[in-house]
Amino acid sequence: MGNYSKGKKNIAITGAGAAGLVAAFFALKAGHSVTVYEKNEIAGKKLRITGNGRCNFTNEDMSVSHYGHFRLSCECSENDADEAFRAICERDTDLNKIAAILKKNGKEEYIAFLNRCGIPCFQKNGYYYPLSERAGEMTDILVKILIRNGVKFRFRENIRSIERSADGKFLISGEKYDAVILACGGKAFPSTGSDGGGFKIAREFGHTVGYTYPVLVPLKADPAILKMISGVRIKAVAYGLIDGKTITSDRGEVQFTDTTISGIPVFQLSRHLTKAIEEKKDVRIRLDVLPDVEDETAEEFVLYRKKLLSGASFEELFEGIFPKKYYEMLLKQYHLNRNNPNQNEPDQNETDFIRFSKKFEFRITGHTGYENAQCTRGGVPLSEVKENLESAKIPDLYIIGEMLDVDGDCGGYNLQWAFSSGKTAGENV
Ligand SMILES: Cc1cc2nc3c(=O)[nH]c(=O)nc-3n(C[C@H](O)[C@H](O)[C@H](O)COP(=O)(O)OP(=O)(O)OC[C@H]3O[C@@H](n4cnc5c(N)ncnc54)[C@H](O)[C@@H]3O)c2cc1C
Repeated sequence: MGNYSKGKKNIAITGAGAAGLVAAFFALKAGHSVTVYEKNEIAGKKLRITGNGRCNFTNEDMSVSHYGHFRLSCECSENDADEAFRAICERDTDLNKIAAILKKNGKEEYIAFLNRCGIPCFQKNGYYYPLSERAGEMTDILVKILIRNGVKFRFRENIRSIERSADGKFLISGEKYDAVILACGGKAFPSTGSDGGGFKIAREFGHTVGYTYPVLVPLKADPAILKMISGVRIKAVAYGLIDGKTITSDRGEVQFTDTTISGIPVFQLSRHLTKAIEEKKDVRIRLDVLPDVEDETAEEFVLYRKKLLSGASFEELFEGIFPKKYYEMLLKQYHLNRNNPNQNEPDQNETDFIRFSKKFEFRITGHTGYENAQCTRGGVPLSEVKENLESAKIPDLYIIGEMLDVDGDCGGYNLQWAFSSGKTAGENV
């Protein structure tokens, strides 16, 4: 990381998470003396479990729309996409601020930073990981370099409030600081340390933290149906519907337990659904498990299967296409839905079944809370910080990472934001 000259300013960082660690590097590089306060006994408890322990830290496609509160998707109808786009534009100022920060300190800078720390990276399907695919080892290396270069870590220090001394300095645990970087994270996965305590500190400095809710979170649906397909993983296009309108979609592997529906596409959808769930709106996830069969070609598809499997019963005709449990659940729901137990109807019945399987809807009854969420929606509004992430209310106070009202899709966008905001504050403090 090059040579460091010490002591320009005395800087405190609260939180040794993804954003705080990066801020420490760049504040140190700028020649400051840096102390990091962390309530846990180790740094980066959350960082260590990211990407299933492999740390997916950024993405090939760093379009700022991945941070928009609505996801534009070509799978939605044109009208839906128009509406989603209007929603993005309503938050234009925020997105512009995020875009400016990502432009300066984006994917390339993140990869270069890790390389300089001796951590090479690779990309798979657009997702970036450290070559070792070990988030814990990566975190240990970052902390080791910081300690070697003089950063002081104060572990097991839960900062509950920050005082100001008469000369305008910040007081933390009896120490005086010229500037403070708040990096306490949001409320997601509180077992890792981020439990919303940072929001309280921000409020004490006059910042507003409005309504927050969990995103990138498994969702709950009718257990009677989920029990039939528990353990199933199925590739599908998933659509998110609020009060009957499709607002978002994603494609990938959907997973089921006795009580939840999850997987990356559902996580992506959850960013746009959890608020509506909390508002008790009618929220549904529609799964198209045969996206390559068009409605119009359903009949052709059925005829093809019948020819292929001559003599097959209705129950056998589509075996081998769907996971067995999912097929059985669909058949059951189809018959119930049509109030028609006759399983030996003519061709139209089978074609209708294919259309039914492309539109099956799960009524969403809840989300599984911050305990199971990867991210928090809400936080300190971007309008309350300057371009360099210094508080617009309190000079020399900076706010970064998930403490800000920024959240992105699954796929490395949240760690990228932690890096981009941490570097911005660290360089400017
Ligand atoms: C299971 C899981 C998997 C994820 N996988 C990915 C992924 O693959 N890719 C991706 O981009 N994102 C992923 N994320 C999201 C990503 O980890 C977060 O967005 C990111 O870590 C936020 O960084 P942060 O530094 O703002 O907050 P955190 O990483 O939450 O760090 C905040 C730190 O501050 C400490 N702290 C809090 N309050 C105080 C206090 N009062 N005093 C002292 N210390 C305090 C906490 O203990 C914590 O160490 C995942 C999240 C989870 C939960």
